[in-house]
Amino acid sequence: MSYYVTTPIYYVNAEPHLGHAYSTIAADILARHMRQRSEDVFFLTGTDEHGEPVAQAAQKLGIEPRELVDRNAPKFEELLPQINVSNDFFIRTSDPEHEAKVQEIVQIVHDNGYVYEGVYEGWYCPRCADFKSELELGPGQTCPIHKIPLEREREENWFFRLSAFQDQLERLYAERPDFVRPQARYNEALSFIRGGLEDVSLSRPKLTWGVRLPWDRRQVMYVWFDALLNYVTALSYAGGGEDLTDRFWPALHIIGKDILKFHAVYWPAFLMAAGYEVPKGMFIHGYLLMEGHKMSKSLGNVLDPFEVIERFGADALRYYCFREVSFGQDGSVSPTGFEARYDSELANEYGNLASRTLAMIDRFRDGRVPAAEPDPELAGGGDGLARVDAAVCGLLDRAELTQALDEIWKRVRRLNRYVEETRPWDLAKDDEEAGRLDQVLYSLAEGLRVTTLLLLAYMPEIGDRMLDALGAEDRAIAAFGSHGGGQRIEKLPPLFPKIEAAAV
Ligand SMILES: [Zn+2]
Repeated sequence: MSYYVTTPIYYVNAEPHLGHAYSTIAADILARHMRQRSEDVFFLTGTDEHGEPVAQAAQKLGIEPRELVDRNAPKFEELLPQINVSNDFFIRTSDPEHEAKVQEIVQIVHDNGYVYEGVYEGWYCPRCADFKSELELGPGQTCPIHKIPLEREREENWFFRLSAFQDQLERLYAERPDFVRPQARYNEALSFIRGGLEDVSLSRPKLTWGVRLPWDRRQVMYVWFDALLNYVTALSYAGGGEDLTDRFWPALHIIGKDILKFHAVYWPAFLMAAGYEVPKGMFIHGYLLMEGHKMSKSLGNVLDPFEVIERFGADALRYYCFREVSFGQDGSVSPTGFEARYDSELANEYGNLASRTLAMIDRFRDGRVPAAEPDPELAGGGDGLARVDAAVCGLLDRAELTQALDEIWKRVRRLNRYVEETRPWDLAKDDEEAGRLDQVLYSLAEGLRVTTLLLLAYMPEIGDRMLDALGAEDRAIAAFGSHGGGQRIEKLPPLFPKIEAAAV
């Protein structure tokens, strides 16, 4: 089966920040997990480079827009290895291949009769690159997002006949209750549709930095349609000579809640107009709110992702973001919150489980995992190891990143309790308990292997080190008890060293 996941493409005018990393890591976790299930995965991210704000910023600097985007796009691309992201392609909407494909698709929409010429007059926010309807206006004709005064614009545009898709979109939502998740976002999009769809501008005159309409070269495509089309155009040229569209389309989109309307309403309608399949679905995440009142031990008082990565590694940041804030909701992140999770969960729970499991196998069984049967005691119950792989796969099928991590973490805690209950160090003193000790040590190693395979998508570097130390070569998701044991282990330095207070 193919699995195609995308991030939003990031507007090149901004500096990369935690919000960009958050969307991208989410998509990366899904891509990595699906590869572990032998799915045929394609994972796309990139930059959105057209539109008025880029042209204006370039003008201020006295350079061409092309020069500005060539300067800024690499900042986003360079972020990816820093956060352990495994994208298959990086699209830039200024790629000539993208532009050519956008023109080809918009020509189809034109030929299918879904565009017409008209005059648009309305309140326009240059920062959103969007006209605001009367319902969306802030007090005194301001942008509700940017709080800046809107401009009254009147211009000749080509329009996209969005209203023609009223029934089809309502039907799509009725037939596919999981098209948009979480449920609250589905409801929001559906109520926007039910409020009655109006046609939207497809192009704007007077702009120069963008994709020109093939049948009217005075007009430049509205940046939103140009940007949305990246999800489709990338497949036409990312594969070198091979067109990947049939192999991977439709995609699952991971997006933030600020761009819901474009993705959940305009985008499927535009695809229908062009004769493409609509997306497989979309998951809308919330915001990470920066909280910083208390000064932390090592990280100051505002969570700086680059500092976290430098001091603790990207995996700790990846873990923290999805553990601390339920994916799909807004939630606060802070340096003290990070340190608390790092200490209590990564170092004391997982790190400790890893080090004592390896140490006991080394000491009591000469560094070789005994070949034994899995302990039914550890397999069973609500937090048992028996079906953790199926539970996590089921949740990640629905992009429930935090719930899946919760399921994994319950097993980490269960394994630690198991050590306390079985007391292998006492069993080791009694020769008659040799068989029982084999079973306990095998079950611990196997439990650690199975949970680490599930954690690997969240923490690829740490997970690899752990699995190598366990002598586990295969990276495919595995059921508890599926490895027979007998392999050699290696000792590891601490996976999560203790936090030292920063020098002041
Ligand atoms: Zn705005």
